[in-house]
Amino acid sequence: MVDYIADYLENIRERRVYPNVQPGYLHKRLPSEAPQQPEKWDDIFRDVEDHIMPGIVHWQSPHMHAYFPALTCYPSIMGEMLSSALNVLCFTWASSPAGTELETIAMNWLGKILGLPDCFLNEKNDSPGGGVIQTTASEATLVSLLAARTRALMELSKLNPDVQSSELLGHLICYCSDQAHSSVEKAGLIGLVRMRYIESDENQSMRGDKLEEAIINDKTKGLVPFWVCATLGTTGSVAFDNLREIGQVCGNHSAWLHVDAAYAGSAFVCPEYRHWLDGVELADSFAFNPSKWLMVNFDCTAMWVKDSTALHRTFNVNPIYLRHENSGKAIDYMVGTQNSNTKKRLVNVETKEDQKIISNGSKSECYPNGDSSHDEDGDEKLRNLHGYNKISPGCGTQIQLENPDKKEPLHWQIPLSRRFRALKLWFVLRNYGVMGLQKHIRESVRLAQKFEALVLADQRFEMPQPRNLGMVVFRLKGDNTLTECLLKRLNARGYIHAVPACFKSVYVIRFTVTSQRTTNQDILDDWNEIKTVAAEIITEMFG
Ligand code: PLP
Repeated sequence: MVDYIADYLENIRERRVYPNVQPGYLHKRLPSEAPQQPEKWDDIFRDVEDHIMPGIVHWQSPHMHAYFPALTCYPSIMGEMLSSALNVLCFTWASSPAGTELETIAMNWLGKILGLPDCFLNEKNDSPGGGVIQTTASEATLVSLLAARTRALMELSKLNPDVQSSELLGHLICYCSDQAHSSVEKAGLIGLVRMRYIESDENQSMRGDKLEEAIINDKTKGLVPFWVCATLGTTGSVAFDNLREIGQVCGNHSAWLHVDAAYAGSAFVCPEYRHWLDGVELADSFAFNPSKWLMVNFDCTAMWVKDSTALHRTFNVNPIYLRHENSGKAIDYMVGTQNSNTKKRLVNVETKEDQKIISNGSKSECYPNGDSSHDEDGDEKLRNLHGYNKISPGCGTQIQLENPDKKEPLHWQIPLSRRFRALKLWFVLRNYGVMGLQKHIRESVRLAQKFEALVLADQRFEMPQPRNLGMVVFRLKGDNTLTECLLKRLNARGYIHAVPACFKSVYVIRFTVTSQRTTNQDILDDWNEIKTVAAEIITEMFG
């Protein structure tokens, strides 16, 4: 298997990146029943090349330009192999001390490599902040939303003790840009809260003024803004929301700020890209995927929070079989007890109540139940429930959320069991070093710049959005059907693979430099393939 993997990766350029199979192809080739008797490994393995490989999209190929990178590398694969062999479930410190401690150490290393502020690190174990490896960016977003929801409900319940939390829930509202990933919408659906999409500016960036306007408008309707998701590196065009402006608005209204940097987060290993992190100290949680561009194979989402007690309050269960004595000396990522003196949190609920109402224009709003008529303004009861009306008028009240004498279980995630993912992250950080990782990121960006120059030099093509980092969005000038046809034909030929995006009804092809194996020649070959197919289409359509 090791030889097979090495040969596969070294010779991947020779494989057609996109498979030439139809839905159901495998059903026709494999038996419909599992074997009664054990089969020989050689027979099983032969089927991998004969039947499985023909249906694989080769994500590690230099000609893979779809989505965002989902890279792996040898140290990561070896980490995965060892982790599979050990197969420890690192939910508490006691369930595998090295698993837990290595995760804390690797996440501190990674946080420092990215230049995150100290408040997100957990170096002495008495700081409320810290990092945790989640499975996906979607899960990190959901965890953050749920933690913020709990915080908001606790504050509201204190001010409205007679009101059921299910009723309070109906008044919560959260925000993201119209460019945010669909996983943000999904988090809102699961969290049963309404979500407002803020119209992004001409650079696809969410700005503070539009957010502030929407929040003020919603507050006058008796709604309670509690969570904002900012994106660093949007899926459509790698655009960046303005973190400092958004952070200040969140501070004014006591809303939790989550930063989703799923793809672009890896770029922050290079100091020259950290200007997009300006204002990150105002965030409550931050997540990115080393499993995308940093070559740590899927799954691995790095998430940091400023206050892990907010997660603990959200996922608070504490069965006896998971109570172990680590006496607060180490993190338990799922459940455990920790000396709560270190966890006593005071939440400043001072908010700036701006009575000025500004029209929120045409922004859309999504309701979990799809009922857009649900709870509009004017309901007196609803206004009375509006906790921020009660706690906001500049009183600066401090609400104590926890009993400081209690031993508290700590929860950092939704599942109980967790894989030993820190091993592969640690192997990659050590085997590449910071400089090796920086070299990898810079090379991808250089190759994307090369592709960008080729596109811009050809009069038949245009780039509706500027290139950011390793992604170029481009199209054939003219009607959308030209570019749609180009992409369809490119994918059918299978030499390169890309996916589309749409900006305000303009159809584009996303071309992401993914593989660490991509060379100058690969970029030239891919561009020649694109030009050849484009010429065919133009001739067919216009003669
Ligand atoms: N957020 C952004 C900005 C993304 O681009 C993506 C996927 O590409 C996600 C979230 C979802 O990532 P995951 O598959 O890790 O949930």
